[in-house]
Formats: sequence, structure tokens, C-alpha cells
Amino acid sequence: MNLLDGKFASEKIKTEIAEEAAAFLAESGRKPHLVAILVGNDGGSETYVASKMKNCEKVGFQSSLIRYDNSVTEAELLAKIGEINDDAGVDGLIVQLPLPKHIDPEKVTETIDYRKDVDGFHPVNLGRMMRNLPCFIPATPYGILLMLKAYDIDTTGKHCVVVGRSNIVGSPMSILMARNANPGNCTVTLTHSKTHNLKEMVLQGDIVVAAIGRKNFVTADMVKTGAIIIDVGINRETSTETKSGFKLFGDVDFDNVAPKSSWITPVPGGVGLMTIVGLLKNTLASAKKEIYS
Ligand code: NDP
Repeated sequence: MNLLDGKFASEKIKTEIAEEAAAFLAESGRKPHLVAILVGNDGGSETYVASKMKNCEKVGFQSSLIRYDNSVTEAELLAKIGEINDDAGVDGLIVQLPLPKHIDPEKVTETIDYRKDVDGFHPVNLGRMMRNLPCFIPATPYGILLMLKAYDIDTTGKHCVVVGRSNIVGSPMSILMARNANPGNCTVTLTHSKTHNLKEMVLQGDIVVAAIGRKNFVTADMVKTGAIIIDVGINRETSTETKSGFKLFGDVDFDNVAPKSSWITPVPGGVGLMTIVGLLKNTLASAKKEIYS
């Protein structure tokens, strides 16, 4: 078993991003700028946004956090997004999910200017990704590709089984792994809660991407010997063992699956760290107008 170490891979790529951000500052007189909107005070969302902001500072980006409480109306939120869309000093805009029930996440996603959609959720970016055109790739799948690249893993011809079909992780991941690219060039099976014989499906995977949201869902009897295991899950449980009062668990039963795998991502310390790198790379590309002019 070899560890796909998100700390190692993310630090290496962040050093490169910091160098590029410094060059961008020298040329343009400003830093790449990411704005995050956070609605409410969900514990997980607070942690993720704080980490995104902190990492922006680390690589020399400007970051701004706009907070609303749960009572913000959809109209207010959309108006703010419109304002940021028009602000030439902002390169990337993300709205942390989940949102309160009275706000339609689809409307929010579609209101963000696709040229600033560094989370890669806008239909224009997803459509361009389908067609293998330059676009902002959703941050988590992008982070996974960067991780595979960092470890020089050739995915060509492999069978990739993705568990979970969300718009932000499973579905885009399945498209990216099937693309004519490396990482990519896989034969892909996309599975979900209605899949029959899930265990047999996952057992066929040379690569397994677990994005379900259930602690230790993928067990050792579900994976073939030598498989590459990518664990996207972040399941938070209260704990007296940690300073934060929480402990994180993946969707994969790491202790029992790791000995059977050839490569595996830990949780924490795996895909989560790479997601932030994906976001930073998209923000830098936006500032440098590498994708949309
Ligand atoms: P969603 O809840 O949106 O999607 C979960 C998917 O899992 C659905 O497609 C669902 O199927 C499927 N699923 C649920 N139960 C089963 C089952 N019994 N058998 C097979 N499939 C099942 O989750 P997300 O994709 O947003 O997130 C998944 C996990 O990844 C979560 O733990 C989340 O916290 C984490 N995450 C981590 C990130 C990171 O940076 N590391 C970023 C984003 C998410 P169906 O569609 O049929 O309901």
C-alpha cells in the first residue's frame, strides 16, 4: 500500500501557485482575488471556508468573506452575486453549500458569472468540461486529477468505478475519468443508491472513487487487490479525543481497505486538501485570464 498524501501533493502545488501569484502581482499590481459567500453557521461550512481563506493568504491571494445569517433572502443573495460579478477586482466567487432551504442553489449557481465560477458548478463550465474545452473544473474532481498527476499514476485503460453521482463530485468525476486525457482514458462505471449489486460493481474497479457521505461505507470485501482508492468522503463526528471536538472519517474503511490497495488517500489529509488546491488553481487561471478573456 502507498499513501496518496494530500499534504505532500498540496504543499508542492501551492508553492508553484505562490510563485505564479507573485509574478502576477509584479505584472498587474494586484493579487488574484477570491470572494466567498457563507450563509448561516453550519460547522462544516465554517471550517471549509476558513481553510479556503487561510490558504488564499498562504499563496499570496487576496480573499474576502461575505457572511449572511440564515434569514437572508434569495433576492438579497442574488443581488450581491450580481454586484460581485460586475467587480473587475474579483477573479473568483464561490457560495458555500449547503444553503438554507428557502434559497434555490440552482439559481445561485446560474447567477454566478461563469467566468468567475471557480468552483466549476455553472452549466457553462460543466458543458465545456463535457466537450473537453478549457473551463473551470469542479474543485474536488480537479484536486483528485492533480493528486493522480502528482504521483504520476497512469490511469489509461483502467476501469474506474465512481460511487456517488452528485453534481459536484461523482458525476463530474465520471466524465473526467472517461475523457481523452491523462489522468482519464478510463472505462467508467458510475454507481449510486439505486445501483444493483453495488459490491460486485466496486469489486471490478482498478480505481474506486468513493463520494457517498457515509462513514466506512466501502469495506475490504468490496475492493479488488491492488486497486487505487480515492476517498472523497468527509463525515464529521463529535469526539472528545480532539481539540476541535470533531473527528473526520472517510467513506472508506481505511484500516481494512488500505492493505489490499496499491494507492489510497487518507481522511483527513487526502482529497480535502487537494480540493483547496483545485480552487486556488482555478482562481489563478481566472486572474490570468487563461480560460476566459
Ligand atoms: P451527495 O449527498 O450529494 O451525494 C451522495 C451520493 O452517494 C448520491 O449520488 C447517492 O446516490 C450516493 N449514495 C448514497 N447512499 C448510497 C448507497 N447506499 N449506495 C450507493 N450510493 C449511495 O454527496 P456529495 O457528492 O456532495 O459528497 C459526498 C461525500 O464527499 C460527503 O461525505 C461530502 O462531505 C464529501 N465531500 C468532500 C469534499 C472534499 O473536498 N473532500 C468535497 C465535497 C464533498 P443517489 O444519487 O441515488 O441519492
